[in-house]
Amino acid sequence: MSNVYNFCAGPAMLPVAVMEKAQSEFLNFAGTGSSVMELSHRSSEFIQVAEKAEADLRELMAIPDNYKVLFCHGGGRGQFSAVALNLLGANKKADYIVSGTWSKAAAEEASHYGDINIINVLNNEQGIQSVQASTSWPLSDDAAYVHYCPNETVDGIEIFDVPDTGNIPLVADMSSTILSREFDVSKFALIYAGAQKNIGPSGLTLVIVRDDLLGKAHIDTPSIMNYQVLAENGSMYNTPPTYGWYLAGLVFDWLLAQGGIKAIAKINDKKARLLYQYIDQSHFYKNTISPENRSLMNVPFLLTDDTLTAKFLQQAKQQGLVALKGHRSVGGMRASIYNAMPIEGVEKLVDFMKTFAEDNQ
Ligand code: PMP
Repeated sequence: MSNVYNFCAGPAMLPVAVMEKAQSEFLNFAGTGSSVMELSHRSSEFIQVAEKAEADLRELMAIPDNYKVLFCHGGGRGQFSAVALNLLGANKKADYIVSGTWSKAAAEEASHYGDINIINVLNNEQGIQSVQASTSWPLSDDAAYVHYCPNETVDGIEIFDVPDTGNIPLVADMSSTILSREFDVSKFALIYAGAQKNIGPSGLTLVIVRDDLLGKAHIDTPSIMNYQVLAENGSMYNTPPTYGWYLAGLVFDWLLAQGGIKAIAKINDKKARLLYQYIDQSHFYKNTISPENRSLMNVPFLLTDDTLTAKFLQQAKQQGLVALKGHRSVGGMRASIYNAMPIEGVEKLVDFMKTFAEDNQ
């Protein structure tokens, strides 16, 4: 086993047990003599894999029966377009809450398709960023939906309360927070997430959509993005990303064996607390997000002396702490600590940070 802890924001590390299981059946899946990736998506063996993955996800997230689960192509950005094309409807108006990089990008993409009301909810007081309480968001009463991003992967900003949008459908980009903590799915009209953080490898995108929202797509919507077409065809209108779907199934299995979302959420909380607590009591490092909006999954931090950043990253890598470089738009460091990151990885990072601080005071 490698000694490396990978803090990449995505594609991110996967649980070792999942990788070992995939490796053990890589060449010969369930006695077929073929790899899963060589099986027809319509074969009975793959259909079993696909159905079990969906059933396990439904159990993990307690997804109500009136929601479809779609296994799609196209990533988070594919859904930026798909959501607008499927849900804008005739009046083509939607509210987009902007709380960071990805929600802004989603709003910009949706603007190609309709009249997008951008609601900026970020406060910046003396360099500390926070999100305005959702009860004060100036939502429109004629929007087809409200879109927001509960966890901003680049900025490390998380919104913990689910906004109450009344009868207006709530859409969430959960790419970097899905399966990390409990969500009441019934409060959402649609949830989507690129797989490459908490689900599996990139190339697969999950959509969980309430069934009354199907059948409203714009006439020009490509069929492979049309939720109704996908739902009617069990996500097999075209060839789905079969290997990603299989690996996602292994991750769901692993999560169930850990005790489900409640159990993993406790560990996630502990990991994040360990890191933020150390950063807060140190004069050497800082995080500029207000405590109530600090992401549990993506922890950005800066060195008070930025000239040491390259040295920090290089020495961290030598210690097996890799992919800690912050997003190019933010700089500094970012530790992404998704479900697959064991607490030992965070402990090792904090130990390294302490030593680095002592050596460079
Ligand atoms: N939304 C969020 C919250 C993300 O973190 C990302 C990717 N990091 C995206 C959307 C875009 O995803 P993709 O690269 O799969 O299009």
